[in-house]
Amino acid sequence: MHPTVIEINKRIFENNLVQVRKQIGAGVRLLLPVKANAYGHGLIPVAQLAEPFIDYFGVACLDEGICLRQNGITKPILVFGAIDEEQIRGLVENNLEITISSMYKARLVHEFCLKYDKKCKVQIKVDTGMNRVGIRPESFNPLLDFVLASSVLILTGVYSHLAMSEVTDNSVTESQITSFSAIVETVKVRKPSVICHLANSGGVCYHPSSYFDMVRPGLLSYGYFPGEKLTTGNLVEIKSCFSLKSRVSYFKVVNKGAGISYNHRYHTSEMTRIVTIPIGYGDGYRRGLSNSGEVIIRNKRYQISGTICMDMFMVDIGSNGESYVGDEVVLIGKQGDQELKIEELASKLDTIIYEVLVGFNERIPRVVV
Ligand SMILES: *Cc1c(COP(=O)(O)O)cnc(C)c1O
Repeated sequence: MHPTVIEINKRIFENNLVQVRKQIGAGVRLLLPVKANAYGHGLIPVAQLAEPFIDYFGVACLDEGICLRQNGITKPILVFGAIDEEQIRGLVENNLEITISSMYKARLVHEFCLKYDKKCKVQIKVDTGMNRVGIRPESFNPLLDFVLASSVLILTGVYSHLAMSEVTDNSVTESQITSFSAIVETVKVRKPSVICHLANSGGVCYHPSSYFDMVRPGLLSYGYFPGEKLTTGNLVEIKSCFSLKSRVSYFKVVNKGAGISYNHRYHTSEMTRIVTIPIGYGDGYRRGLSNSGEVIIRNKRYQISGTICMDMFMVDIGSNGESYVGDEVVLIGKQGDQELKIEELASKLDTIIYEVLVGFNERIPRVVV
Protein backbone atom coordinates (compact mmCIF):
# COMPACT_ATOMS: atom_id res chain seq x y z
CA MET A 1 0.00 0.00 0.00
CA HIS A 2 1.13 3.55 -0.84
CA PRO A 3 2.13 5.28 2.43
CA THR A 4 0.13 8.40 1.58
CA VAL A 5 -3.66 7.96 1.38
CA ILE A 6 -6.87 9.95 1.40
CA GLU A 7 -9.40 8.32 3.69
CA ILE A 8 -13.11 8.85 3.14
CA ASN A 9 -15.16 8.17 6.24
CA LYS A 10 -18.23 6.27 5.02
CA ARG A 11 -20.34 6.84 8.11
CA ILE A 12 -19.76 10.60 8.13
CA PHE A 13 -20.30 11.00 4.39
CA GLU A 14 -23.55 9.01 4.45
CA ASN A 15 -24.73 10.95 7.47
CA ASN A 16 -24.06 14.23 5.65
CA LEU A 17 -26.37 13.07 2.84
CA VAL A 18 -29.01 12.01 5.37
CA GLN A 19 -28.85 15.40 7.09
CA VAL A 20 -29.10 17.29 3.80
CA ARG A 21 -32.21 15.23 2.98
CA LYS A 22 -33.68 16.09 6.34
CA GLN A 23 -33.08 19.78 5.66
CA ILE A 24 -34.67 19.81 2.18
CA GLY A 25 -37.64 17.59 3.07
CA ALA A 26 -39.17 14.59 1.36
CA GLY A 27 -40.57 16.45 -1.64
CA VAL A 28 -37.24 17.77 -2.88
CA ARG A 29 -34.77 15.65 -4.84
CA LEU A 30 -31.04 15.55 -4.15
CA LEU A 31 -28.38 15.78 -6.85
CA LEU A 32 -24.81 15.11 -5.72
CA PRO A 33 -22.16 16.96 -7.71
CA VAL A 34 -19.23 14.57 -8.22
CA LYS A 35 -17.26 16.68 -10.70
CA ALA A 36 -13.49 17.07 -10.35
CA ASN A 37 -13.01 13.57 -8.94
CA ALA A 38 -15.86 14.11 -6.47
CA TYR A 39 -14.19 17.26 -5.11
CA GLY A 40 -10.96 15.27 -4.76
CA HIS A 41 -12.62 12.51 -2.72
CA GLY A 42 -12.48 9.92 -5.53
CA LEU A 43 -15.21 9.74 -8.18
CA ILE A 44 -15.99 6.02 -8.12
CA PRO A 45 -15.86 5.26 -4.39
CA VAL A 46 -17.93 8.37 -3.64
CA ALA A 47 -20.50 7.60 -6.34
CA GLN A 48 -20.85 4.02 -5.12
CA LEU A 49 -21.33 5.12 -1.51
CA ALA A 50 -23.77 7.88 -2.45
CA GLU A 51 -25.95 6.12 -5.02
CA PRO A 52 -28.52 4.68 -2.54
CA PHE A 53 -28.87 8.07 -0.80
CA ILE A 54 -29.40 10.43 -3.72
CA ASP A 55 -31.51 10.91 -6.86
CA TYR A 56 -29.10 12.37 -9.40
CA PHE A 57 -25.40 12.81 -10.03
CA GLY A 58 -23.89 15.97 -11.51
CA VAL A 59 -20.63 15.99 -13.48
CA ALA A 60 -18.82 18.72 -15.37
CA CYS A 61 -17.99 16.88 -18.56
CA LEU A 62 -18.55 13.85 -20.75
CA ASP A 63 -15.54 11.84 -19.51
CA GLU A 64 -16.69 11.99 -15.90
CA GLY A 65 -20.13 10.76 -16.93
CA ILE A 66 -18.71 7.88 -18.98
CA CYS A 67 -16.51 6.88 -16.06
CA LEU A 68 -19.58 6.63 -13.81
CA ARG A 69 -21.50 4.53 -16.33
CA GLN A 70 -18.52 2.22 -16.94
CA ASN A 71 -18.37 1.60 -13.21
CA GLY A 72 -21.97 0.53 -12.93
CA ILE A 73 -23.68 3.74 -11.82
CA THR A 74 -27.30 3.64 -13.03
CA LYS A 75 -28.92 6.74 -11.47
CA PRO A 76 -29.51 9.76 -13.75
CA ILE A 77 -26.41 11.84 -14.50
CA LEU A 78 -26.58 15.49 -15.52
CA VAL A 79 -23.58 16.97 -17.35
CA PHE A 80 -23.37 20.63 -16.26
CA GLY A 81 -20.88 21.86 -18.83
CA ALA A 82 -21.53 23.33 -22.24
CA ILE A 83 -21.07 20.54 -24.76
CA ASP A 84 -18.99 20.26 -27.91
CA GLU A 85 -20.61 18.97 -31.08
CA GLU A 86 -18.30 15.94 -31.24
CA GLN A 87 -19.33 14.89 -27.71
CA ILE A 88 -23.00 14.44 -28.54
CA ARG A 89 -22.62 10.80 -29.55
CA GLY A 90 -20.85 9.90 -26.30
CA LEU A 91 -23.43 11.74 -24.22
CA VAL A 92 -26.39 10.08 -25.91
CA GLU A 93 -24.89 6.58 -25.98
CA ASN A 94 -24.05 6.70 -22.26
CA ASN A 95 -27.49 7.91 -21.24
CA LEU A 96 -26.17 11.20 -19.86
CA GLU A 97 -28.46 14.22 -19.56
CA ILE A 98 -27.19 17.12 -21.64
CA THR A 99 -27.30 20.76 -20.58
CA ILE A 100 -28.79 22.93 -23.32
CA SER A 101 -28.03 26.62 -23.08
CA SER A 102 -28.75 27.90 -26.56
CA MET A 103 -30.95 27.26 -29.57
CA TYR A 104 -27.80 26.39 -31.50
CA LYS A 105 -26.88 23.51 -29.14
CA ALA A 106 -30.50 22.32 -28.98
CA ARG A 107 -30.58 22.05 -32.79
CA LEU A 108 -27.29 20.14 -32.88
CA VAL A 109 -28.54 17.52 -30.41
CA HIS A 110 -31.96 17.36 -32.09
CA GLU A 111 -30.40 16.77 -35.53
CA PHE A 112 -27.98 14.15 -34.21
CA CYS A 113 -30.84 12.21 -32.61
CA LEU A 114 -32.99 12.39 -35.74
CA LYS A 115 -30.14 11.19 -37.92
CA TYR A 116 -29.26 8.19 -35.72
CA ASP A 117 -32.79 7.44 -34.52
CA LYS A 118 -32.00 8.14 -30.86
CA LYS A 119 -33.72 9.99 -28.04
CA CYS A 120 -31.92 12.19 -25.58
CA LYS A 121 -32.73 13.64 -22.17
CA VAL A 122 -31.87 17.30 -21.88
CA GLN A 123 -32.04 20.04 -19.26
CA ILE A 124 -32.24 23.73 -20.13
CA LYS A 125 -29.85 26.03 -18.25
CA VAL A 126 -31.05 29.55 -17.66
CA ASP A 127 -28.76 32.43 -16.73
CA THR A 128 -30.43 34.31 -13.88
CA GLY A 129 -27.39 36.32 -12.84
CA MET A 130 -24.17 34.29 -12.92
CA ASN A 131 -23.47 35.57 -16.44
CA ARG A 132 -21.78 32.31 -17.33
CA VAL A 133 -23.40 29.52 -19.35
CA GLY A 134 -27.17 29.71 -19.77
CA ILE A 135 -29.92 31.14 -21.91
CA ARG A 136 -31.15 34.59 -20.89
CA PRO A 137 -34.66 34.62 -19.40
CA GLU A 138 -35.93 36.76 -22.28
CA SER A 139 -34.82 34.11 -24.80
CA PHE A 140 -36.08 31.16 -22.74
CA ASN A 141 -39.54 30.70 -24.24
CA PRO A 142 -38.49 30.01 -27.85
CA LEU A 143 -35.93 27.48 -26.60
CA LEU A 144 -38.52 25.81 -24.37
CA ASP A 145 -40.93 25.66 -27.34
CA PHE A 146 -38.28 24.08 -29.53
CA VAL A 147 -37.28 21.41 -27.00
CA LEU A 148 -40.88 20.51 -26.13
CA ALA A 149 -41.81 20.28 -29.80
CA SER A 150 -38.89 18.01 -30.66
CA SER A 151 -39.80 14.35 -31.10
CA VAL A 152 -36.33 13.23 -29.97
CA LEU A 153 -35.45 15.58 -27.10
CA ILE A 154 -36.94 14.72 -23.71
CA LEU A 155 -36.97 17.69 -21.34
CA THR A 156 -36.23 16.41 -17.80
CA GLY A 157 -35.08 19.60 -16.11
CA VAL A 158 -34.65 23.36 -16.14
CA TYR A 159 -32.00 24.90 -13.94
CA SER A 160 -29.91 27.91 -13.08
CA HIS A 161 -26.90 28.61 -10.84
CA LEU A 162 -26.47 31.00 -7.91
CA ALA A 163 -23.57 33.45 -7.97
CA MET A 164 -23.45 34.58 -4.33
CA SER A 165 -25.32 32.03 -2.25
CA GLU A 166 -22.68 31.67 0.48
CA VAL A 167 -23.66 35.16 1.68
CA THR A 168 -26.74 34.98 3.92
CA ASP A 169 -28.61 38.17 3.01
CA ASN A 170 -27.98 39.50 -0.43
CA SER A 171 -30.03 41.04 -3.18
CA VAL A 172 -28.24 39.14 -5.96
CA THR A 173 -29.51 35.78 -4.66
CA GLU A 174 -32.97 37.24 -4.01
CA SER A 175 -33.20 38.52 -7.55
CA GLN A 176 -31.97 35.19 -8.97
CA ILE A 177 -34.64 33.33 -6.98
CA THR A 178 -37.32 35.74 -8.22
CA SER A 179 -36.20 35.45 -11.80
CA PHE A 180 -36.02 31.64 -11.61
CA SER A 181 -39.49 31.45 -10.02
CA ALA A 182 -40.96 33.13 -13.10
CA ILE A 183 -39.21 30.56 -15.32
CA VAL A 184 -40.55 27.71 -13.16
CA GLU A 185 -44.11 29.00 -13.51
CA THR A 186 -43.80 29.00 -17.29
CA VAL A 187 -42.33 25.49 -17.33
CA LYS A 188 -44.88 23.90 -14.99
CA VAL A 189 -47.78 25.00 -17.17
CA ARG A 190 -46.25 23.28 -20.16
CA LYS A 191 -44.80 20.12 -18.56
CA PRO A 192 -45.32 19.64 -14.80
CA SER A 193 -42.88 16.71 -14.48
CA VAL A 194 -39.85 18.85 -15.40
CA ILE A 195 -37.45 19.09 -12.44
CA CYS A 196 -36.63 22.74 -11.71
CA HIS A 197 -33.51 23.36 -9.63
CA LEU A 198 -31.32 26.23 -8.50
CA ALA A 199 -29.67 25.67 -5.10
CA ASN A 200 -26.00 24.79 -4.60
CA SER A 201 -24.56 24.35 -1.08
CA GLY A 202 -25.03 28.01 -0.23
CA GLY A 203 -28.63 27.83 -1.39
CA VAL A 204 -29.30 24.77 0.79
CA CYS A 205 -27.66 26.37 3.85
CA TYR A 206 -28.82 29.96 3.69
CA HIS A 207 -31.71 30.31 1.20
CA PRO A 208 -34.56 27.78 1.68
CA SER A 209 -36.67 29.58 -0.93
CA SER A 210 -34.15 28.39 -3.55
CA TYR A 211 -34.98 24.67 -3.18
CA PHE A 212 -37.71 24.20 -5.85
CA ASP A 213 -37.82 20.50 -7.02
CA MET A 214 -34.17 19.53 -6.47
CA VAL A 215 -30.97 20.84 -4.87
CA ARG A 216 -27.32 20.40 -5.92
CA PRO A 217 -25.09 20.77 -2.85
CA GLY A 218 -21.50 19.72 -3.49
CA LEU A 219 -19.27 21.18 -0.79
CA LEU A 220 -21.92 20.72 1.92
CA SER A 221 -22.38 17.02 1.13
CA TYR A 222 -18.65 16.48 1.58
CA GLY A 223 -18.89 18.17 4.96
CA TYR A 224 -18.13 21.89 4.70
CA PHE A 225 -20.11 25.09 4.86
CA PRO A 226 -19.50 27.50 1.97
CA GLY A 227 -20.05 30.45 4.33
CA GLU A 228 -20.87 30.81 7.99
CA LYS A 229 -21.08 27.46 9.84
CA LEU A 230 -24.65 26.73 10.93
CA THR A 231 -24.95 25.86 14.61
CA THR A 232 -28.68 25.19 14.77
CA GLY A 233 -31.12 23.25 12.60
CA ASN A 234 -30.79 20.10 10.52
CA LEU A 235 -27.28 20.76 9.24
CA VAL A 236 -25.42 20.89 12.57
CA GLU A 237 -24.14 17.33 12.14
CA ILE A 238 -22.47 18.09 8.79
CA LYS A 239 -18.81 17.10 9.13
CA SER A 240 -15.76 16.62 6.94
CA CYS A 241 -15.36 13.01 5.79
CA PHE A 242 -11.88 13.57 4.26
CA SER A 243 -8.51 12.81 5.88
CA LEU A 244 -5.05 12.97 4.34
CA LYS A 245 -2.53 10.67 5.98
CA SER A 246 1.01 9.54 5.38
CA ARG A 247 3.85 7.77 7.22
CA VAL A 248 7.32 8.89 8.24
CA SER A 249 9.62 7.47 5.58
CA TYR A 250 13.03 8.60 6.84
CA PHE A 251 14.66 9.85 10.03
CA LYS A 252 18.00 11.60 10.53
CA VAL A 253 19.86 13.72 13.06
CA VAL A 254 21.13 17.03 11.66
CA ASN A 255 23.61 19.53 13.12
CA LYS A 256 22.75 22.99 14.42
CA GLY A 257 22.64 25.62 11.66
CA ALA A 258 22.00 23.12 8.85
CA GLY A 259 19.90 24.28 5.88
CA ILE A 260 16.99 21.97 5.09
CA SER A 261 15.58 21.20 1.60
CA TYR A 262 15.84 23.25 -1.64
CA ASN A 263 17.41 26.68 -1.20
CA HIS A 264 17.85 26.12 2.51
CA ARG A 265 14.81 28.18 3.39
CA TYR A 266 14.85 26.60 6.88
CA HIS A 267 17.85 26.37 9.24
CA THR A 268 18.04 24.21 12.33
CA SER A 269 18.49 26.10 15.59
CA GLU A 270 20.07 23.16 17.42
CA MET A 271 21.25 19.65 16.71
CA THR A 272 17.91 18.12 15.90
CA ARG A 273 15.84 15.30 14.45
CA ILE A 274 14.48 15.65 10.93
CA VAL A 275 11.82 13.32 9.55
CA THR A 276 10.78 13.02 5.91
CA ILE A 277 7.14 12.61 4.82
CA PRO A 278 6.50 11.09 1.38
CA ILE A 279 4.05 13.60 -0.12
CA GLY A 280 4.77 16.77 -2.07
CA TYR A 281 3.41 19.18 -4.62
CA GLY A 282 3.47 16.33 -7.17
CA ASP A 283 0.56 14.86 -5.21
CA GLY A 284 -1.18 18.21 -4.86
CA TYR A 285 0.16 19.09 -1.40
CA ARG A 286 0.87 22.67 -2.37
CA ARG A 287 4.35 24.18 -2.35
CA GLY A 288 2.85 27.35 -0.89
CA LEU A 289 2.71 25.48 2.43
CA SER A 290 6.53 25.41 2.65
CA ASN A 291 7.58 26.55 6.15
CA SER A 292 3.91 27.07 7.06
CA GLY A 293 1.87 23.87 6.68
CA GLU A 294 1.53 21.60 9.71
CA VAL A 295 1.35 17.89 10.45
CA ILE A 296 0.38 15.76 13.43
CA ILE A 297 2.80 13.03 14.51
CA ARG A 298 2.35 11.08 17.76
CA ASN A 299 -0.40 13.45 18.84
CA LYS A 300 1.73 16.61 18.41
CA ARG A 301 1.52 19.37 15.82
CA TYR A 302 4.70 20.32 13.95
CA GLN A 303 5.38 22.87 11.26
CA ILE A 304 6.84 21.81 7.91
CA SER A 305 10.55 22.71 7.71
CA GLY A 306 11.72 24.28 4.47
CA THR A 307 10.59 23.99 0.89
CA ILE A 308 8.08 21.30 -0.05
CA CYS A 309 9.59 19.12 -2.79
CA MET A 310 7.73 17.35 -5.57
CA ASP A 311 7.48 14.03 -3.70
CA MET A 312 8.30 14.77 -0.07
CA PHE A 313 8.92 17.34 2.62
CA MET A 314 10.78 17.50 5.92
CA VAL A 315 9.76 18.25 9.49
CA ASP A 316 12.07 19.29 12.33
CA ILE A 317 10.70 17.47 15.38
CA GLY A 318 13.29 18.97 17.76
CA SER A 319 16.20 17.44 19.61
CA ASN A 320 13.91 15.40 21.85
CA GLY A 321 11.18 14.81 19.27
CA GLU A 322 9.80 11.29 19.28
CA SER A 323 9.10 9.79 15.91
CA TYR A 324 10.43 6.96 13.81
CA VAL A 325 10.06 5.50 10.37
CA GLY A 326 6.55 4.14 9.88
CA ASP A 327 4.75 6.51 12.26
CA GLU A 328 1.39 7.78 11.03
CA VAL A 329 1.42 11.42 9.94
CA VAL A 330 -1.87 13.30 9.65
CA LEU A 331 -1.89 16.23 7.21
CA ILE A 332 -5.65 16.82 7.21
CA GLY A 333 -7.91 15.27 9.81
CA LYS A 334 -7.64 13.98 13.36
CA GLN A 335 -5.09 12.08 15.39
CA GLY A 336 -5.63 11.66 19.11
CA ASP A 337 -6.97 14.96 20.42
CA GLN A 338 -5.32 17.00 17.66
CA GLU A 339 -7.02 18.09 14.45
CA LEU A 340 -5.77 19.79 11.30
CA LYS A 341 -8.60 21.31 9.31
CA ILE A 342 -8.58 21.88 5.59
CA GLU A 343 -9.84 25.40 6.36
CA GLU A 344 -6.39 26.14 7.84
CA LEU A 345 -4.65 25.02 4.64
CA ALA A 346 -7.04 27.06 2.50
CA SER A 347 -6.47 30.18 4.53
CA LYS A 348 -2.66 29.77 4.52
CA LEU A 349 -2.86 29.36 0.75
CA ASP A 350 -5.21 32.34 0.41
CA THR A 351 -7.80 30.21 -1.37
CA ILE A 352 -11.05 28.30 -0.80
CA ILE A 353 -11.57 24.73 0.46
CA TYR A 354 -12.80 23.68 -3.00
CA GLU A 355 -9.44 24.44 -4.61
CA VAL A 356 -7.40 22.63 -1.96
CA LEU A 357 -9.62 19.52 -2.16
CA VAL A 358 -9.59 19.18 -5.93
CA GLY A 359 -5.84 19.75 -6.04
CA PHE A 360 -5.03 16.31 -4.59
CA ASN A 361 -4.41 14.17 -7.64
CA GLU A 362 -4.71 10.55 -8.66
CA ARG A 363 -1.27 9.62 -7.29
CA ILE A 364 -2.85 9.44 -3.84
CA PRO A 365 -5.09 6.37 -3.42
CA ARG A 366 -8.57 6.99 -1.98
CA VAL A 367 -9.74 4.49 0.59
CA VAL A 368 -13.15 4.21 2.20
CA VAL A 369 -12.92 3.57 5.93
C1 LIG B 1 -20.36 22.69 -8.86
C2 LIG B 1 -21.78 22.96 -9.03
C3 LIG B 1 -22.66 22.85 -7.96
C4 LIG B 1 -22.21 22.59 -6.54
O1 LIG B 1 -21.67 23.74 -5.94
P1 LIG B 1 -21.34 23.75 -4.37
O2 LIG B 1 -20.98 25.14 -4.09
O3 LIG B 1 -20.19 22.80 -4.19
O4 LIG B 1 -22.53 23.27 -3.67
C5 LIG B 1 -24.01 23.01 -8.21
N1 LIG B 1 -24.46 23.28 -9.45
C6 LIG B 1 -23.63 23.42 -10.51
C7 LIG B 1 -24.19 23.73 -11.84
C8 LIG B 1 -22.26 23.27 -10.34
O5 LIG B 1 -21.46 23.40 -11.38
